Amino acid sequence: MAEKKEVANATENSKPGEDGKPGQDGKPGEDGEEPGEKIELPELGPFEIITGRRFMIHYFKFQFKNVEYSSGRNKTFLCYVVETLGEDTVKTEGFLEDEHSTTHAEDAFFNQIFGPQQCSGDLKYQLTWYVSSSPCAACATRIVEFLRRYPNVSLTILAARLFMWEEPEVQDGLRMLKAAGCRLRIMKPVDFIFCWDTYVENEGEAFQPWEDIQENSSYHEEKLHEILEKA
Ligand SMILES: [Zn+2]
Repeated sequence: MAEKKEVANATENSKPGEDGKPGQDGKPGEDGEEPGEKIELPELGPFEIITGRRFMIHYFKFQFKNVEYSSGRNKTFLCYVVETLGEDTVKTEGFLEDEHSTTHAEDAFFNQIFGPQQCSGDLKYQLTWYVSSSPCAACATRIVEFLRRYPNVSLTILAARLFMWEEPEVQDGLRMLKAAGCRLRIMKPVDFIFCWDTYVENEGEAFQPWEDIQENSSYHEEKLHEILEKA
């Protein structure tokens, strides 16, 4: 998949630094390329959704870090499990990333991974998402519409962080999701390990939890609980 490779290479040059700050996107010249060469790569366009089976370690360590505020993390990674339930349950796994795209990963999931074409009315489906941050208000509305339209689909969302949880419309969105039957959870250390093992090109390396992973998880869990219980 050419697009994915191009983007992966571009971001390789700009991986998050040790200080936890994101790098700048492809800086022409620094890696010996002529600036003109960059312009000839239309695949690097800013509006794209990247899909795949596994992604690089440094993306996971940066994007899924469960810090209180997601400074610099202006995209969403969505790792999914789609289970088609039946005598022989079929499971598919992969991820999406909204690389500076105007379409959010949640919306792209229904357009590219699991939409009306994949959703036969005769079967039941169990979707599980591991997202780097919880859905924005617009995505929450989109998810709720989908779940109402397809009652044979159930969705569990596990988020590393809450996205702009102080915003009333974001809180409303989370409550709407709950009311529509969506299970909302905050990722615990065991969920980070699952994602690491399932979606990351970990090259056999075991997941090394950061120091405050449990504390941060509990913090977001508490906030989510408060939001969902608020009438
Ligand atoms: Zn969104």
